[in-house]
Amino acid sequence: MTNKLILLLFLIPVTAWATKFPMQSVVPGGIVSIPIGESSELPPRAYFNKRRVLVMDHENQWIALVGIPLKTKPGTHNISLKPRNKNIQTQFTVANKEYPAQYITIKNKRMVNPNPDDLKRIKSDRIPINKALRTWSEQASIDTHFIAPVDGRLSSLFGLKRFFNNQPRNPHSGLDIAAPSGTPIKAPASAKVIDTGNYYYNGNTVILDHGQGLISGYFHMSDIHVKPGQLVKQSDLLGTVGATGRVTGPHLHWNIYLNRTKVDPALFIADEIPVLDARNNKDAK
Ligand SMILES: [Zn+2]
Repeated sequence: MTNKLILLLFLIPVTAWATKFPMQSVVPGGIVSIPIGESSELPPRAYFNKRRVLVMDHENQWIALVGIPLKTKPGTHNISLKPRNKNIQTQFTVANKEYPAQYITIKNKRMVNPNPDDLKRIKSDRIPINKALRTWSEQASIDTHFIAPVDGRLSSLFGLKRFFNNQPRNPHSGLDIAAPSGTPIKAPASAKVIDTGNYYYNGNTVILDHGQGLISGYFHMSDIHVKPGQLVKQSDLLGTVGATGRVTGPHLHWNIYLNRTKVDPALFIADEIPVLDARNNKDAK
């Protein structure tokens, strides 16, 4: 009884945040939001592929916000719910999505075919990056009201099948916004800085924890203006756009993760995408 009362008090600020939700897109690389109970009850824990997923209060319901990995096969998939001692399954259906191919020419050949020393560096880079991406912070209020981190031109979409110098590589894991070097990069929502560093492919990097496995990454920066442990609010300066790491020109590469899965950042700023994309008509070459 007392525990429940304490939890209810703890959850009161949640409704204040739950104003803007990412757009749902039930495809590989997308997001599905699944109602999993009345928010007058205690929140159930939810799991997808055995990984815990974000659960937040939205319009008096508990909603599981699930990232769908790019490798997911179209068809029916299960979410496991663990309210107290019960174990319940709920299902959702993933539709097919074919992402186009993109061919990129990189002048620095070591960025496409790294030498043995580079490979050592790439391997050691993965340790802090993976540690940051495994972060789970048990906060109830998650700020999902995101703004675009850079005022620029939408230069590459999430999920493209990529070929560097005609060699197949991993699909594009984020959204690219091109802008001149030195353009401010702002926090899209309130969060905690969990990693900063200079990495081989990603260049100067900032990683933010928004809570419950919602994590965002900022790559190729020229300067970094935040430190690990720092709390940021929406629009606070993270650093500036640059061309560090594997790039063809200055831009921000922006990643978003849910349940340790890369999802399409455009779903978080769907209202701003037409504005960023319209700049392609004038500036694209
Ligand atoms: Zn990119």
